[in-house]
Amino acid sequence: MKKLVIIDRDGVINFDSDEYIKSVEEWQPIPGSLEAMARLHQAGYLLAVATNQSGIARGLFNVAELKAMHQKMQSLLQQLGGKIDALVYCPHGPDDHCDCRKPKPGLLLQISQQLGVNLENAYFVGDSFKDIQAARAVNAKPILVKTGKGERSLQEHPELIHEVSIYNSLQEFTHFLLN
Ligand SMILES: [Mg+2]
Ligand SMILES: [Zn+2]
Repeated sequence: MKKLVIIDRDGVINFDSDEYIKSVEEWQPIPGSLEAMARLHQAGYLLAVATNQSGIARGLFNVAELKAMHQKMQSLLQQLGGKIDALVYCPHGPDDHCDCRKPKPGLLLQISQQLGVNLENAYFVGDSFKDIQAARAVNAKPILVKTGKGERSLQEHPELIHEVSIYNSLQEFTHFLLN
């Protein structure tokens, strides 16, 4: 079975903002993140992205703008020789009580179904406690990165230092995984 790395988007692949990433112009990759994804693809990993996008429910941007951001991400990645095999998002807000908004595991289950891959050997790389919780809910391996809200997540949940693997960035995690 192919190995799978699931990646949170904001704060892991691209710079995050407390004001939300609302447009293609605001979507800017963290240096080294797309290169890391290309390396993982070339090493034979399946890559998936699982992202909460409550900015849609909040009326900050629409699905067309989100798709344009993802087009930018995929075309930059393609130029580096990489590919995202599954990309899923939750457009709901916290009061919608959907099954997909992380910390719920719905997005991860969608990825498993789309790719036909078991989640128990998959890594889920995120910068928020919600990502860790979603990974745990499906027995995937949680990885916390310090980019984005990662440092804040560690301050709020210092127990994570003993409980999950922590890396400075997606690039550093990829380096450790492939070497
Ligand atoms: Mg994030
Ligand atoms: Zn949802």
